[in-house]
Amino acid sequence: MKFELTVLGSNSAIPAHGRKLSAQLLNIKDELVLIDCGEGTLLQMFAYHIKYSKINHIFISHLHGDHIFGLVGLLTTYGLNRRKKTLNIYGPDGLDLIINVQLKLTETKLSYELVFHRTDPQQSTIVLDTPKFTVQTIPLLHRVPCNGYLFREKNQQRRINKSLIDHYDVPFTKISAIKEGADYTTPKGEVVTHQQLTLDPLPERSYAYCSDTMYTESILKLIEGIDLLYHEATFLHELLDKAQKTMHSTALQAASIAKQSKVKQLLIGHFSSRYQTPEVLEKEAQTIFLNTEAVQEGKTYPVGVEPILFK
Ligand SMILES: [Zn+2]
Repeated sequence: MKFELTVLGSNSAIPAHGRKLSAQLLNIKDELVLIDCGEGTLLQMFAYHIKYSKINHIFISHLHGDHIFGLVGLLTTYGLNRRKKTLNIYGPDGLDLIINVQLKLTETKLSYELVFHRTDPQQSTIVLDTPKFTVQTIPLLHRVPCNGYLFREKNQQRRINKSLIDHYDVPFTKISAIKEGADYTTPKGEVVTHQQLTLDPLPERSYAYCSDTMYTESILKLIEGIDLLYHEATFLHELLDKAQKTMHSTALQAASIAKQSKVKQLLIGHFSSRYQTPEVLEKEAQTIFLNTEAVQEGKTYPVGVEPILFK
């Protein structure tokens, strides 16, 4: 089952050098969720052929404009498309006020229910728990209340052990029942258990979104060992002063967080417009954490390893 991230926007503050503002689409086992929604996010979803009507959950990190100014346009479009499904929005206190005043004064009536879930940027809590995955907040340090999100898949299925299936000549028609937990009885009456015919599930995959934030080791424990970390890297380390003043991170700091928390892969983004291309930031981060990539808009990144159900 899929678990992958498509980056829709990677620049900070304003669109520049062809880069758009913060937004990401996560596909967790065919459930689409949106993370942040800077201006132009809907157009990016058009450009990358994303089925945005399938989104039922939107996670907002904080109330700075470059992370939310695309929201009211998206919500209005859903209304014009006569959406019926409830839409859930998660974010810090005040988000409902910002959205509701725009909808009210523009006399926009939505065709669907909008439910706001207030996050607590001070402490980590689980804000969504579904049979497929959980979403937990990550308290961050920024100029306004801000939290990231940790997405963790649940209950990976045991995998079919192909060599034993071949050994016992199990008919293809029995495979799906075995996957669900059934034993198999051979024509000679020998019972081969589900446990024998299957392998342990692969570890549950996980993705963390950490933007915007200054360097903080308080997040290390929460993101320890995860498959994929997105951490903002607004500046090169030579602008550490500026990073601290504006409560952002440098590429070196993002890499240090990745290294200390032993994540498997790091993506950096939220680039300052002063950088024509993010290559310099990527290079700087790689001096500390080699498996770093500066995100590219429109590119899809797999989270961890997709389970192979036959082995
Ligand atoms: Zn910000």
